[in-house]
Amino acid sequence: MPNDDITPVRQQYLDIKRDYPDTIVFFRLGDFYETFDEDAEITARELDIVLTSRPIGGGARAPLAGIPYHAVENYLARLIEKGYHVAICEQVGEQPTKGIFPRKVVRVVTPGTVTEPSLLPGDANNYLASVVLDSTLKSASVSHTDVTTGEFAVTELPLEALRAELTRLHPAEILYPDNQTLPDGISGHLTALPAWKFEPGKCNETLLAQFKSSTLVGFGLKDHSLQVRAAGAIVQYLKETQPDALNLLTSLRAYSLNEFMTLDASTRRNLELEETLRGERKGSLLGALDFSITPMGKRLMHQWVSQPLLQVEKIRQRQNGVEYFFSNGMTRAELREALKPLADLERLVNRVIAGQAQPRDLVAMRGTLGQLPKVKEVIGNWLLESSGKWSVCGEEYSLLQAALDDDPPATLQNTGVIRPGYSAELDGVIEASKHARDWIANLEGVEREKTGIKTLKVGYNKVFGYYIEISRGAADRAPENYIRKQTLVNAERFITPEMKEYETLVLNAEERIKEIETRLFREVCAELAKVAHKILTTARAIAELDVLSALGEAAALGGYTKPEVHEGSEMEIHEGRHPVVEQLLKSDRYIPNDVIFERGEIVRVITGPNMSGKSTYLRQAALITLMAQMGSFVPAASAKIGLVDRIFTRIGAQDEIHAGQSTFMVEMVEAANILHHATSRSLLILDEIGRGTSTYDGLSIAWGIIEYIHNHPHLRAKTLFATHYHELTQLADLLPGVRNYNVAVSEADGKVVFLHKIIAGGADRSYGIHVAQLAGLPAPVIQRANEIMAELEKTSGRAVKINPHAAQQIALFPETSPLLDDLKELDVNSLSPIEALNRLFEWQKKYVK
Ligand code: ATP
Repeated sequence: MPNDDITPVRQQYLDIKRDYPDTIVFFRLGDFYETFDEDAEITARELDIVLTSRPIGGGARAPLAGIPYHAVENYLARLIEKGYHVAICEQVGEQPTKGIFPRKVVRVVTPGTVTEPSLLPGDANNYLASVVLDSTLKSASVSHTDVTTGEFAVTELPLEALRAELTRLHPAEILYPDNQTLPDGISGHLTALPAWKFEPGKCNETLLAQFKSSTLVGFGLKDHSLQVRAAGAIVQYLKETQPDALNLLTSLRAYSLNEFMTLDASTRRNLELEETLRGERKGSLLGALDFSITPMGKRLMHQWVSQPLLQVEKIRQRQNGVEYFFSNGMTRAELREALKPLADLERLVNRVIAGQAQPRDLVAMRGTLGQLPKVKEVIGNWLLESSGKWSVCGEEYSLLQAALDDDPPATLQNTGVIRPGYSAELDGVIEASKHARDWIANLEGVEREKTGIKTLKVGYNKVFGYYIEISRGAADRAPENYIRKQTLVNAERFITPEMKEYETLVLNAEERIKEIETRLFREVCAELAKVAHKILTTARAIAELDVLSALGEAAALGGYTKPEVHEGSEMEIHEGRHPVVEQLLKSDRYIPNDVIFERGEIVRVITGPNMSGKSTYLRQAALITLMAQMGSFVPAASAKIGLVDRIFTRIGAQDEIHAGQSTFMVEMVEAANILHHATSRSLLILDEIGRGTSTYDGLSIAWGIIEYIHNHPHLRAKTLFATHYHELTQLADLLPGVRNYNVAVSEADGKVVFLHKIIAGGADRSYGIHVAQLAGLPAPVIQRANEIMAELEKTSGRAVKINPHAAQQIALFPETSPLLDDLKELDVNSLSPIEALNRLFEWQKKYVK
C-alpha cells in the first residue's frame, strides 16, 4: 500500500525489499550501493562502516549504510564469506524526464553463485549443489553446477553415500527443500528453499524449458524422478539469483557413483587426498601430484584425485597419455612452458556468455587463444582423442586481435578499448575529436604569442572545463574576447567562446567514443558467445593435456612406474613407496616395501614397534591403488592392481570427536560401516582398531573383526590390519587367509634402529618405552617403566593368552557350535555398533574361558 508521506525512492525500495526478505539489498543510488533499515545495521556491523540515516519522508529517517559502487567486490566478498546473501539492485534503462529511475534486482549473490574472479578459488570448482531425499529416506539425489564453468551434473545415490559425495564435491552452497531434514554430518552453507521448488512437475517443466527439449530421456533421466527434482531446483534457484548463468547450462550429465571408486568422507580425510588433516594442500596426495599449470588443469586434477575410476579401459586411456609425456621429456617440458601463459579459458568463455566480460577478460582470452597454435605445435601429431576435437580457434583469435587494442583499459568506463582501423565510424569520431584536442593543446602557445603574456596557462578542471589562467599582475592585459570566470588569490581564470566550442567537441566525442566502443565490444562478445561451445571444448581438452603432462612430470620426478591395472583380484606392489612421505624425507632414505597379497591371503596383520612405519605402509598401499585407478603412474618398482571398488580406512590416531559421541563410539561406528559395506573387491585399511578401549575389549573386538572379514562369504576383502595387540598374530595359525608381517628392528649394542622394512612374521616387542625415551619423557619415568616391564614379563608373560581352542571354534565353524547358532540368529544388517559390541561381550564371557 503506497504511503503518501514517504518519498518515491523509499517506496520503490520497500517494494523491492519485500521480495527479498532474507537477503541484504544493495540499492543503487548514483555512485553508491545503499543499504537500509536492518540491512544497514548488519552491513555497518559486518563491514565496519559508518551507519547513518536518510530522510524517507513524513519527517522520518531510516538507518543507512552505503558502499561506493566501484569497491563493491571487496565488500561483497566479506558479506558472502560471512554467509549472507546479497541482492544487487541496479538503476535500469534511461533516466526518465519525470520521476525516479526504474530499479530492479539484477542478481542475487550467494556463496554458490558468485562469479567475481576475486571471490572464487582458482584451482578448485565453486559448486552450487542441491539435495533432495526420497520419501522412504533410502536414497537421495544430488545435483551440482559450477556457474563459472557451465558444468552441470546429477546423480542418485543411497542415502548413506550422501555425505561422502558432498564431501567430494565440497559445495560452496547446498540447496534443500525446507520440509526435509538433511542427515547429520552434512556441513557447509545450507540454503533451505520452499519445498514446491523441488516439486516433480515443476522441475520437469523447468528442465525441459532450459534445454528446449521435449523429453529428458536423452539426458539419461526419467521424467519426474528424484534426479529431475534436484537438477530442476538448481535451475529455478539460478533463475532467481543469477539468470545470466542459465545461458551456460546447456547440458546435464547424469552420472552414477558406480563409475567411480567409493571413498567415504573419513577415508578422504584419513588418506589426506586433497588436504592434510591440518587443512593444508602441501603434504596431501594432491599436493604431491599437482604439477598442472593452468587453472582449468588444476580443477581437473582435483576431480581426478577425488574420483578414481572403475573401468580398466578408461584408466588405460589416461595411462597412455601419462606414458606419452613421461617418455617424451622434451615434449613435456615444451608443453608445460607453452601452457604457462594460458589464462582460465573456461571461466573467461563463461564470463563472455554471461555478459560479464570486461576488456581485460578479452585481452586474457586473446593471449590464451594466441598461444594455442604453439600448444598444438608442441604436441605435434600426437593428439588425444579429446584433443582431436579441439581447435586452435584461429578465427576467434583474429577477431580479438583486430577488434581489441593492444593495451585497453581494464573496464568500459574508459576509452581506448577498440583498436584503430577496426571501425570506420569510430575512427571518424576519434579523428574529429583529435583535431579539437590538438587545437586545445596548441592553445597555450598560440595565446601566449598573441597576448605576449608569458605566464598564461591553459588548464582543466571538472567544474569549468578548460580555462585560460593569467597571473594577477598580468590580468589586465587579457584581450577583450576573454570572459572572466573565476578569481583566485594570485590569478584570474578566463574562457573564450571558441575554446568552449572545441571543448564541447572533445567532451562529446569522449561520450560518443565510449558508446561506440561499448557497442562494438558487445558485438565481439556476441560473436564469441556463438562459438562458445568450441572454445569450451578446447578449454577442456587443454585441461586434460595439462593434467596428463602434469602426471607425466610427477612420474618422471618421483621415479614412478606404470601400474598394470586389471579386472582380476591380485594386488602386487613391488618396492612401493608413500608418495608424500618420500617427498618429505630425502628420497634416498625412504625404505620401499612390497605389498604382495599371496593367493588366498585376505588379512595381513602387521605388528611392530611404535613409530616404525606401520601406518605409512598401510596408507601407501591405499594411495598406490588410488593413484593407479586415477590413471597415474605409481611410486613402486612395479605394480599390478586388480580393480578396487572401495577403499575403506579406519585409522585410530586422529580421532575426531563427533558431537555427543566418544572417540571409541566413533571408531566402532566406522568399523560397523566398513563391515556392512565392504565387498570382496574392497581394500580395507584398519589401523589399530580397538585401541580406544581397554586392552581386553579392544583385542576381542579386533579379533572378532578379523574373523568376520575372513569368514564372511561376501566380504573377504583385502585387509591391511596394523595393531599393537601381538596376540592377534595367533590368528595366522587359525585362519588360512591371515598372514603376519612385522617391521624389522635392529638392536645392536643396546641401540634400537627402526628399519622401516616390512618382513614376514609377527613382532614380539613394542619398543614403546624406547619411543617414549626418544620423545623426551623424564629419565626417572623411563627407568621406572623398564623396571615394571621386567616385572610384568616375569610374572605373567607379556602376551595375554587367548584360548586357541575357543578361537578355533569361532574360526572354523563346526557344525554344532552354540556360538554358530547364536551367530545364525543374528541379523547383522540391523545391528547397531553398540549392540554388536554388547553381543561380543556376551559371547566372550560365555565362550572364551
Ligand atoms: P605408531 O604405531 O606409533 O602409530 P607407526 O608404526 O604407524 O607408528 P608411522 O607413523 O607409519 O609409524 O611412521 C613413523 C615415521 O617413520 C614416519 O613419520 C616416517 O618419517 C618414518 N617412516 C615410515 N615409513 C618409512 C619408510 N618406509 N622409510 C623411511 N621412513 C619411514
